[in-house]
Amino acid sequence: MYDLHPAQVFVHKRVYANPLALARLDRMLGALGHPPVQVVDERDTDRIIEAVGVGDSQAEQCPRWRQGVEKRAEDPAFLFNTFVWDEELRTPNPKERLNSCAQMIASVMAGVGEDFAFSQRNPSLLSPEKAHVCQGGWGIHSLKGCVHKCDYCEEGYLVNFMLDLEEFAEHVLRMMERRPEQKLYRYDLYSDSICFEPEYGASAILASAFAETADKYLLFYTKSANVEHLLNLPHKAHSIFYCTLATATVCREIERGTPGMDARIAALRRCQEAGYVVRVGFSPIVPICPCPAGHGPLMGCRADGSP
Ligand code: SF4
Repeated sequence: MYDLHPAQVFVHKRVYANPLALARLDRMLGALGHPPVQVVDERDTDRIIEAVGVGDSQAEQCPRWRQGVEKRAEDPAFLFNTFVWDEELRTPNPKERLNSCAQMIASVMAGVGEDFAFSQRNPSLLSPEKAHVCQGGWGIHSLKGCVHKCDYCEEGYLVNFMLDLEEFAEHVLRMMERRPEQKLYRYDLYSDSICFEPEYGASAILASAFAETADKYLLFYTKSANVEHLLNLPHKAHSIFYCTLATATVCREIERGTPGMDARIAALRRCQEAGYVVRVGFSPIVPICPCPAGHGPLMGCRADGSP
Protein backbone atom coordinates (compact mmCIF):
# COMPACT_ATOMS: atom_id res chain seq x y z
CA MET A 1 0.00 0.00 0.00
CA TYR A 2 1.10 3.59 -0.53
CA ASP A 3 2.48 5.40 2.49
CA LEU A 4 -0.80 7.01 3.56
CA HIS A 5 -1.81 9.18 6.51
CA PRO A 6 -5.58 9.69 6.49
CA ALA A 7 -6.51 12.48 8.89
CA GLN A 8 -9.58 10.55 10.02
CA VAL A 9 -10.43 6.87 9.91
CA PHE A 10 -14.04 5.76 10.31
CA VAL A 11 -15.18 2.15 10.65
CA HIS A 12 -18.84 1.31 10.18
CA LYS A 13 -20.17 -0.98 12.90
CA ARG A 14 -21.33 -3.51 10.32
CA VAL A 15 -17.68 -4.42 9.55
CA TYR A 16 -17.42 -6.12 12.94
CA ALA A 17 -20.12 -8.64 11.96
CA ASN A 18 -18.02 -10.09 9.13
CA PRO A 19 -14.85 -11.99 10.19
CA LEU A 20 -13.22 -11.81 6.75
CA ALA A 21 -13.90 -8.08 6.52
CA LEU A 22 -12.53 -7.62 10.01
CA ALA A 23 -9.33 -9.48 9.15
CA ARG A 24 -8.95 -7.23 6.09
CA LEU A 25 -9.51 -4.16 8.28
CA ASP A 26 -6.78 -5.29 10.69
CA ARG A 27 -4.38 -5.82 7.81
CA MET A 28 -5.06 -2.38 6.36
CA LEU A 29 -4.89 -0.58 9.69
CA GLY A 30 -1.55 -2.28 10.30
CA ALA A 31 -0.24 -0.94 6.98
CA LEU A 32 -1.46 2.53 8.01
CA GLY A 33 0.44 2.33 11.29
CA HIS A 34 -2.62 1.66 13.47
CA PRO A 35 -4.20 5.13 13.42
CA PRO A 36 -7.02 5.90 15.88
CA VAL A 37 -10.41 4.87 14.48
CA GLN A 38 -13.93 6.16 15.05
CA VAL A 39 -16.59 3.46 15.04
CA VAL A 40 -19.68 4.89 13.37
CA ASP A 41 -23.16 4.05 12.10
CA GLU A 42 -25.88 5.83 10.12
CA ARG A 43 -26.49 8.35 12.90
CA ASP A 44 -23.00 9.74 12.34
CA THR A 45 -23.50 10.56 8.66
CA ASP A 46 -23.83 14.36 9.06
CA ARG A 47 -20.84 14.47 11.36
CA ILE A 48 -18.66 12.57 8.87
CA ILE A 49 -19.73 14.83 6.00
CA GLU A 50 -18.82 17.96 7.97
CA ALA A 51 -15.56 16.45 9.23
CA VAL A 52 -14.50 15.60 5.70
CA GLY A 53 -15.33 19.14 4.51
CA VAL A 54 -17.93 18.38 1.87
CA GLY A 55 -20.95 19.97 3.49
CA ASP A 56 -23.43 22.37 1.98
CA SER A 57 -21.15 25.42 1.97
CA GLN A 58 -18.87 23.73 -0.54
CA ALA A 59 -21.82 22.45 -2.55
CA GLU A 60 -23.38 25.92 -2.76
CA GLN A 61 -20.37 27.00 -4.80
CA CYS A 62 -20.49 23.93 -7.03
CA PRO A 63 -22.28 20.58 -6.53
CA ARG A 64 -19.55 18.80 -8.48
CA TRP A 65 -16.56 20.22 -6.70
CA ARG A 66 -13.21 19.36 -8.32
CA GLN A 67 -10.32 18.95 -5.94
CA GLY A 68 -8.01 21.17 -8.03
CA VAL A 69 -9.89 24.16 -6.60
CA GLU A 70 -8.49 23.55 -3.13
CA LYS A 71 -5.36 21.54 -4.02
CA ARG A 72 -5.38 19.90 -0.61
CA ALA A 73 -2.10 18.33 0.40
CA GLU A 74 -3.48 15.87 2.96
CA ASP A 75 -4.70 12.36 2.29
CA PRO A 76 -8.46 11.81 2.24
CA ALA A 77 -10.37 10.39 5.20
CA PHE A 78 -10.99 6.64 5.12
CA LEU A 79 -14.31 4.90 5.77
CA PHE A 80 -14.18 1.12 6.16
CA ASN A 81 -17.51 -0.46 5.39
CA THR A 82 -19.29 -3.48 3.92
CA PHE A 83 -22.04 -3.90 1.37
CA VAL A 84 -25.60 -4.39 2.57
CA TRP A 85 -26.77 -6.82 -0.09
CA ASP A 86 -30.25 -7.26 1.42
CA GLU A 87 -32.28 -4.13 0.64
CA GLU A 88 -34.48 -4.78 3.66
CA LEU A 89 -31.52 -4.16 5.94
CA ARG A 90 -30.63 -0.73 4.56
CA THR A 91 -31.68 2.57 6.10
CA PRO A 92 -34.43 3.77 3.75
CA ASN A 93 -34.24 7.08 1.89
CA PRO A 94 -31.05 8.72 3.09
CA LYS A 95 -31.35 12.52 2.95
CA GLU A 96 -30.49 14.05 -0.46
CA ARG A 97 -27.22 16.01 -0.44
CA LEU A 98 -26.11 18.75 -2.80
CA ASN A 99 -22.47 17.72 -2.93
CA SER A 100 -21.66 14.50 -4.81
CA CYS A 101 -19.16 13.31 -2.18
CA ALA A 102 -21.64 14.03 0.62
CA GLN A 103 -24.28 12.10 -1.32
CA MET A 104 -21.91 9.16 -1.66
CA ILE A 105 -21.17 9.20 2.08
CA ALA A 106 -24.88 9.28 2.91
CA SER A 107 -25.55 6.36 0.56
CA VAL A 108 -22.78 4.07 1.75
CA MET A 109 -23.60 4.80 5.37
CA ALA A 110 -27.25 3.88 4.78
CA GLY A 111 -26.19 0.72 2.95
CA VAL A 112 -25.69 -0.11 -0.72
CA GLY A 113 -25.48 -3.31 -2.72
CA GLU A 114 -25.45 -4.07 -6.43
CA ASP A 115 -26.60 -0.50 -7.13
CA PHE A 116 -23.11 0.56 -5.97
CA ALA A 117 -21.15 -2.49 -7.11
CA PHE A 118 -22.00 -2.36 -10.83
CA SER A 119 -22.17 0.54 -13.26
CA GLN A 120 -22.75 0.83 -16.95
CA ARG A 121 -21.39 3.73 -18.93
CA ASN A 122 -22.93 3.34 -22.39
CA PRO A 123 -26.17 1.39 -22.03
CA SER A 124 -27.24 1.98 -25.62
CA LEU A 125 -24.26 0.00 -26.89
CA LEU A 126 -25.68 -3.14 -25.34
CA SER A 127 -28.94 -3.07 -27.23
CA PRO A 128 -29.31 -6.55 -28.77
CA GLU A 129 -30.84 -4.99 -31.91
CA LYS A 130 -27.62 -3.16 -32.74
CA ALA A 131 -24.44 -4.74 -34.04
CA HIS A 132 -21.41 -3.17 -32.40
CA VAL A 133 -17.70 -3.81 -32.37
CA CYS A 134 -17.27 -2.00 -29.04
CA GLN A 135 -19.05 -3.07 -25.87
CA GLY A 136 -20.63 -0.77 -23.34
CA GLY A 137 -18.38 0.20 -20.47
CA TRP A 138 -19.29 -1.96 -17.50
CA GLY A 139 -17.56 -1.24 -14.24
CA ILE A 140 -17.41 -3.14 -10.98
CA HIS A 141 -16.81 -1.25 -7.75
CA SER A 142 -15.80 -2.02 -4.20
CA LEU A 143 -14.26 1.41 -3.61
CA LYS A 144 -15.27 5.03 -3.92
CA GLY A 145 -12.69 7.75 -3.49
CA CYS A 146 -9.01 7.98 -4.28
CA VAL A 147 -5.67 8.94 -2.76
CA HIS A 148 -4.36 10.45 -5.96
CA LYS A 149 -5.04 14.17 -6.21
CA CYS A 150 -5.83 14.82 -9.85
CA ASP A 151 -7.08 18.40 -10.16
CA TYR A 152 -9.91 17.47 -12.52
CA CYS A 153 -11.34 14.82 -10.19
CA GLU A 154 -13.56 14.91 -7.13
CA GLU A 155 -12.67 11.61 -5.47
CA GLY A 156 -10.04 12.93 -3.07
CA TYR A 157 -12.03 13.75 0.06
CA LEU A 158 -12.98 10.34 1.44
CA VAL A 159 -12.26 6.78 0.38
CA ASN A 160 -14.99 4.24 1.15
CA PHE A 161 -13.60 0.70 1.27
CA MET A 162 -16.00 -2.21 1.02
CA LEU A 163 -14.26 -4.95 2.96
CA ASP A 164 -16.51 -7.94 2.20
CA LEU A 165 -14.65 -8.71 -1.01
CA GLU A 166 -15.37 -12.45 -0.95
CA GLU A 167 -19.12 -11.75 -1.16
CA PHE A 168 -18.48 -9.00 -3.71
CA ALA A 169 -16.71 -11.50 -5.98
CA GLU A 170 -19.66 -13.92 -5.68
CA HIS A 171 -22.04 -11.16 -6.75
CA VAL A 172 -19.76 -10.22 -9.64
CA LEU A 173 -19.75 -13.81 -10.90
CA ARG A 174 -23.55 -14.05 -10.69
CA MET A 175 -23.98 -10.69 -12.42
CA MET A 176 -21.70 -11.77 -15.28
CA GLU A 177 -23.76 -14.91 -15.82
CA ARG A 178 -26.77 -12.66 -16.41
CA ARG A 179 -24.85 -10.77 -19.15
CA PRO A 180 -23.32 -13.34 -21.49
CA GLU A 181 -22.79 -10.65 -24.16
CA GLN A 182 -20.46 -8.57 -21.96
CA LYS A 183 -16.89 -9.86 -21.83
CA LEU A 184 -14.91 -7.05 -20.19
CA TYR A 185 -15.29 -5.34 -16.80
CA ARG A 186 -13.29 -2.38 -15.54
CA TYR A 187 -12.12 -2.11 -11.91
CA ASP A 188 -12.23 0.40 -10.25
CA LEU A 189 -13.15 3.54 -12.11
CA TYR A 190 -14.37 5.15 -8.88
CA SER A 191 -10.95 4.89 -7.27
CA ASP A 192 -7.50 3.46 -7.96
CA SER A 193 -7.51 0.07 -6.26
CA ILE A 194 -3.87 -0.72 -7.02
CA CYS A 195 -2.75 1.94 -4.49
CA PHE A 196 -4.16 -0.14 -1.60
CA GLU A 197 -2.56 -3.45 -2.46
CA PRO A 198 -1.56 -6.02 -1.39
CA GLU A 199 -3.25 -5.36 1.98
CA TYR A 200 -6.70 -4.73 0.50
CA GLY A 201 -6.56 -7.98 -1.46
CA ALA A 202 -9.05 -7.17 -4.22
CA SER A 203 -6.58 -7.82 -7.05
CA ALA A 204 -6.03 -11.43 -5.96
CA ILE A 205 -9.71 -12.18 -5.25
CA LEU A 206 -11.00 -10.69 -8.49
CA ALA A 207 -8.25 -12.16 -10.69
CA SER A 208 -9.13 -15.60 -9.28
CA ALA A 209 -12.85 -15.03 -9.81
CA PHE A 210 -12.42 -13.98 -13.44
CA ALA A 211 -10.09 -16.93 -14.04
CA GLU A 212 -13.05 -19.21 -13.16
CA THR A 213 -14.99 -17.92 -16.15
CA ALA A 214 -14.70 -19.12 -19.73
CA ASP A 215 -14.71 -15.73 -21.42
CA LYS A 216 -14.82 -12.81 -18.97
CA TYR A 217 -11.95 -10.39 -18.51
CA LEU A 218 -10.98 -8.05 -15.70
CA LEU A 219 -9.32 -4.77 -16.55
CA PHE A 220 -7.28 -3.22 -13.74
CA TYR A 221 -7.78 0.48 -14.44
CA THR A 222 -5.06 2.54 -12.84
CA LYS A 223 -2.48 5.26 -12.85
CA SER A 224 -0.50 3.53 -10.13
CA ALA A 225 2.90 1.85 -10.47
CA ASN A 226 2.33 -0.16 -7.27
CA VAL A 227 2.31 -3.41 -9.21
CA GLU A 228 4.59 -5.65 -7.14
CA HIS A 229 1.61 -7.63 -5.79
CA LEU A 230 0.35 -8.38 -9.31
CA LEU A 231 3.52 -10.00 -10.55
CA ASN A 232 3.14 -13.33 -8.78
CA LEU A 233 -0.63 -13.69 -8.64
CA PRO A 234 -1.54 -17.29 -9.50
CA HIS A 235 -4.35 -16.30 -11.89
CA LYS A 236 -3.46 -13.80 -14.58
CA ALA A 237 -4.97 -15.25 -17.73
CA HIS A 238 -8.20 -13.24 -17.50
CA SER A 239 -6.71 -10.03 -16.16
CA ILE A 240 -5.53 -7.03 -18.13
CA PHE A 241 -3.32 -4.28 -16.75
CA TYR A 242 -4.45 -0.93 -18.12
CA CYS A 243 -2.63 2.27 -17.25
CA THR A 244 -3.52 5.78 -18.31
CA LEU A 245 -0.65 7.91 -19.53
CA ALA A 246 -0.46 11.66 -19.77
CA THR A 247 2.41 14.00 -20.52
CA ALA A 248 5.14 14.40 -17.92
CA THR A 249 3.86 17.94 -17.15
CA VAL A 250 0.30 16.72 -16.58
CA CYS A 251 1.48 13.83 -14.39
CA ARG A 252 3.54 16.23 -12.29
CA GLU A 253 1.35 19.33 -12.05
CA ILE A 254 -2.24 18.23 -12.59
CA GLU A 255 -2.28 14.60 -11.46
CA ARG A 256 -0.69 15.33 -8.11
CA GLY A 257 0.29 12.31 -6.07
CA THR A 258 0.44 9.98 -9.06
CA PRO A 259 3.57 8.28 -10.36
CA GLY A 260 5.29 10.03 -13.25
CA MET A 261 5.10 8.85 -16.82
CA ASP A 262 8.39 6.92 -16.61
CA ALA A 263 7.20 4.99 -13.55
CA ARG A 264 3.91 4.12 -15.25
CA ILE A 265 5.70 2.85 -18.35
CA ALA A 266 8.04 0.78 -16.15
CA ALA A 267 4.99 -0.69 -14.37
CA LEU A 268 3.45 -1.62 -17.72
CA ARG A 269 6.65 -3.34 -18.72
CA ARG A 270 6.87 -5.30 -15.46
CA CYS A 271 3.29 -6.48 -15.82
CA GLN A 272 3.80 -7.47 -19.43
CA GLU A 273 6.93 -9.43 -18.54
CA ALA A 274 4.98 -11.12 -15.74
CA GLY A 275 2.47 -12.40 -18.27
CA TYR A 276 -0.34 -9.84 -18.29
CA VAL A 277 -1.91 -8.40 -21.34
CA VAL A 278 -1.25 -4.68 -20.95
CA ARG A 279 -3.07 -1.72 -22.46
CA VAL A 280 -2.50 2.02 -22.36
CA GLY A 281 -5.00 4.85 -22.41
CA PHE A 282 -3.90 8.37 -23.28
CA SER A 283 -5.96 10.37 -20.87
CA PRO A 284 -6.62 13.10 -20.02
CA ILE A 285 -5.66 15.29 -22.94
CA VAL A 286 -4.81 18.61 -21.24
CA PRO A 287 -3.44 21.37 -23.45
CA ILE A 288 -0.57 23.01 -21.59
CA CYS A 289 0.30 26.68 -22.05
CA PRO A 290 3.69 26.83 -23.80
CA CYS A 291 4.63 30.29 -22.54
CA PRO A 292 7.46 30.86 -20.02
CA ALA A 293 4.96 31.85 -17.31
CA GLY A 294 4.03 28.15 -17.07
CA HIS A 295 0.31 28.64 -16.64
CA GLY A 296 -0.39 24.91 -16.74
CA PRO A 297 -3.68 24.43 -18.60
CA LEU A 298 -3.88 26.34 -21.87
CA MET A 299 -4.25 30.10 -21.49
CA GLY A 300 -3.93 31.05 -25.16
CA CYS A 301 -0.44 32.59 -24.85
CA ARG A 302 2.21 32.25 -27.53
CA ALA A 303 5.46 30.42 -26.81
CA ASP A 304 7.20 33.77 -26.24
CA GLY A 305 4.69 34.66 -23.53
CA SER A 306 2.72 37.24 -25.50
CA PRO A 307 -1.06 36.94 -25.18
S1 SF4 B 1 -6.46 8.50 -10.24
FE1 SF4 B 1 -8.52 8.62 -11.11
S2 SF4 B 1 -9.93 8.45 -9.37
FE2 SF4 B 1 -7.89 8.94 -8.57
S3 SF4 B 1 -7.87 11.19 -8.33
FE3 SF4 B 1 -6.98 10.69 -10.34
S4 SF4 B 1 -8.73 10.76 -11.80
FE4 SF4 B 1 -9.57 10.64 -9.69
